[in-house]
Amino acid sequence: MPPAALFAHQHLLGIEQLSAAEIEHMLDLAEGYVALNRHAHKKSDVLKGRSLILLFFETSTRTRTSFELAGKRLGADTINISVQMSAIKKGETLIDTAMTLNAMHPDVLAVRHPEAGAVNLLARHVNCAVINAGDGSHEHPTQALLDALTIRRRRGPIAGLTVAICGDILHSRVARSNMLLLKKLGARVRLIAPPTLLPTAVETFGVEVFHDMRKGLAGVDIIMMLRLQQERMAGTFVPSQREYFHFYGLDEEKLALAKPDALIMHPGPMNRGVEIDSVVADDITRSVILDQVELGVAVRQACLEVLARNLPALDHNR
Ligand code: ASP
Repeated sequence: MPPAALFAHQHLLGIEQLSAAEIEHMLDLAEGYVALNRHAHKKSDVLKGRSLILLFFETSTRTRTSFELAGKRLGADTINISVQMSAIKKGETLIDTAMTLNAMHPDVLAVRHPEAGAVNLLARHVNCAVINAGDGSHEHPTQALLDALTIRRRRGPIAGLTVAICGDILHSRVARSNMLLLKKLGARVRLIAPPTLLPTAVETFGVEVFHDMRKGLAGVDIIMMLRLQQERMAGTFVPSQREYFHFYGLDEEKLALAKPDALIMHPGPMNRGVEIDSVVADDITRSVILDQVELGVAVRQACLEVLARNLPALDHNR
């Protein structure tokens, strides 16, 4: 099969649009970058002559830095737009900003925005490739891909594993993208959360739902903890952080209910003592939180590579 046929999309907007074969292909490609990133010489010229613009309307440490590193390691000219310093602060609309950047002919635009659907909307107004780096509580596809790579490298095939996603599911794009991906690859997914932090119609997602963390964690292979996303909460969703930790915070006692070798994951940023206890977050025999960060760079390199294949060819002789 020609490489372009293994990923037949102009944009990477969500896990929803991807097939299991496309996901596996991107993970396979990312494996090669994990090895390369551990070498002193990390550069390749897969994106030489291409330009990547990062446009983040929300704060980010991991995603933004890893996209920038991924672009630079692949040889792209990588530009970061600070929303604080741009005309967005002067009232420019999202579409005007998108069309302005598009007029400069970038090859790839990676966008994060607080509104669900904003990145899909933007993609309809540009002709470069667009990557969704997180849109509101909708999708965060590169996070789900890096989580899948982390699981696959530690546990082998994802099919048949039981994964518990715990905490603020309602506001979490990470939970949504992970649910979609894990189900496409054949995992069993459990959601563990208080009723106030679950989306409506959750029973239609094809997952098991638990309100009691002790029951939900019983026998799971993987535990994904989520942050309470206060910035997306209008109103009170939990009585207090202390009470939340008591019922839904991962500590040694609750962890003991999962499989003895269950892995602990968290997309970051962590709120220690709110959704996770430091003792389990820092347990290097169980916690793969820093592996997730490492593999995030490799996954984003793989995403950029597959999108670059579908860009107009570069004539290097000109
Ligand atoms: N960093 C992840 C995101 O951007 C998770 C979080 O913020 O809690 O969605």
